[in-house]
This record gives sequence, C-alpha cells and structure tokens, in this order.
Amino acid sequence: MSRLQLITLDLDNTLWDVDSIIIKAEGELLKWLGEHVPDSLQHYQGERLDEIRAAVFAEFHHQAHDLSFMRTQVLYEVIRRTGMQDREARQRAQQAFEVFFEGRNRVVFFPGALDMLEDLSRRFNIYALTNGNANIEKAGLSGYLSGAYSSADVGAKKPHPDMFHAPLTELDLHPQQAVHIGDHLVDDIHGANAVGMHSIWVNLTEHYRSDNDSTPTREVADLSAVAQAVEDIHSGL
Ligand SMILES: [Mg+2]
Repeated sequence: MSRLQLITLDLDNTLWDVDSIIIKAEGELLKWLGEHVPDSLQHYQGERLDEIRAAVFAEFHHQAHDLSFMRTQVLYEVIRRTGMQDREARQRAQQAFEVFFEGRNRVVFFPGALDMLEDLSRRFNIYALTNGNANIEKAGLSGYLSGAYSSADVGAKKPHPDMFHAPLTELDLHPQQAVHIGDHLVDDIHGANAVGMHSIWVNLTEHYRSDNDSTPTREVADLSAVAQAVEDIHSGL
C-alpha cells in the first residue's frame, strides 16, 4: 500500500517550454548589453563566446550545477574584455544577469499546468526539483509549492539520488510515499525510480521510449491527465 505524502515536480519542459523562454531572455539581455556596455557585444557571440564559456566551465567546473553563478561569471568575463575595471565589470555582470533572470522567469505555462497545480496542491505537499535556475516566486509558483530544491541548493543534478533524497529527508518520508513528475526519462524517471520513488512521465511531445529507458509508474500525454495518474498511484492501482 503506497499512500502518497509528497509530490516532487520538475519545472523546465514539464510546466513550460524552457527553450523559447531562454531565447527571449537572451534577446532582452543582448538589448541591455547593447545599450549599457555596447563594446561587450563583440565578445558575446560566436567563437569568442564559446571560448569564454569553455574557460569559465573549466575554471568553475565544481560549480557547474549552479547555472546562475555560471551565467554571471560568463557575463563578467565578457564585460572584462572591454577593458572595464574589475569592480565595475562585476556590477555590470550582475545587472546584466538580473535582466536575463527576469526574462527567464517570465514563464508561459503549458495548457493545464496551473489547474494541475491547483488541484494537486490542495491534496499533497508539492516540492519542485529542478536542475535549472527558475525562481519559484518570480515564476508565480509559490502559492502551489511547499518547498523547492534546485541543483544549486543540493550541489548535484538530477538524476543524482541526492536531489530526490533532499525532500524525502526533510519530510522524513519513505521513497514509496512520494511520486516524481517530469519530462526527462533519465534525469526525472530513471532518477526517481533509482531511489525507489514512483514516477510519472510527462510526455507532451510523443517522445519514443526505448527498451533501454526506465519505465515510469505512469505516463501522461497531457498535463490534465496528471491528477488522475497521481490518484491511481495514491490508491495503489
Ligand atoms: Mg525538465
């Protein structure tokens, strides 16, 4: 018997399409750089940017799970290359990151996402579990969530067990009392299954699952079907 006490929820590509949001946020960032540090634009493109990113990832590989830090550091290196003094470059990089971050959190929810959250949050504790850097308050999720863990908080990325153990430990729950909902077969489904949690695969794009992939407890093609899938697991079906 597996009465559920906890739902953990992936964010990017489960509640919204992250690529289109990031592209738009990048556009806003470029516009800001063009207005405030125009000389930086020549470094924020093509191979030059690739080189800067590679150097930052090499130097700070131990912080690669913290996307906000990494992006701010890349912006700092880009701005430094204009010859700006260190202190001012740090300030400008922080301001530029804030512009990106506002856009990154201006999310467009998939159909049915908010109804699902409304419904499930009335009956269960919901914790966000994300490898990304979406901000719960800015994205308008705080009313639905009891908590959230990002890879930056935990120091590891899904599918690492530490991500799934974080809320289980906090709430002192057995993995069988929890279900994880997400779009990614490895990060979400394999990760949750490996620690003994139930899993619901949100497959909105008719993605093909091969025999090598982990098998979710339930699969849904639409967010409006998630509540029933949770109910099935909750009642031990
Ligand atoms: Mg995802």
